[in-house]
Amino acid sequence: MKDLDTKMAFSKMKYCPDCGIKMIYKHAGIYECPQCGKMDKDDFGKVKTFLDENGPTPAAIVSQETGVPMITINEFLRLGKVEIPENSDVFIKCEKCGTDIRYGRYCPECIKSLSNKIRGALAEDVVGEKPRRKRIGEQDNNKMFFLDKRR
Ligand SMILES: [Zn+2]
Ligand SMILES: [Zn+2]
Repeated sequence: MKDLDTKMAFSKMKYCPDCGIKMIYKHAGIYECPQCGKMDKDDFGKVKTFLDENGPTPAAIVSQETGVPMITINEFLRLGKVEIPENSDVFIKCEKCGTDIRYGRYCPECIKSLSNKIRGALAEDVVGEKPRRKRIGEQDNNKMFFLDKRR
């Protein structure tokens, strides 16, 4: 089992390109300079803003348009910062049993058995949601999944 405590730090330090002082983290990956009010975005801010403006979009396009690497986008999905919409044909997998989930790392069933072991650790952060629609047919792992922001 992977260490549930190893979370990536997305809130990196940002400095205002004009004033050179530390920018303040506002929300959803958006930073603001306390002096001149200039806004800047980290990778999550870029993805979130793109999805706000464009709606559900294939992950590859999001990556292309925002310049945020796929590996980072996958990490956002695993952390539940973004999700795959209900009507998608392709989902990510529960890391334990391999069932489809829309975001997170484990399906609700697996998190139950896992949380008995980890006792109150980060269950909320890693539990995903299964798509309600049952898929028919074989999984095609080369198919690209869509991304949506979390509601
Ligand atoms: Zn500034
Ligand atoms: Zn599972």
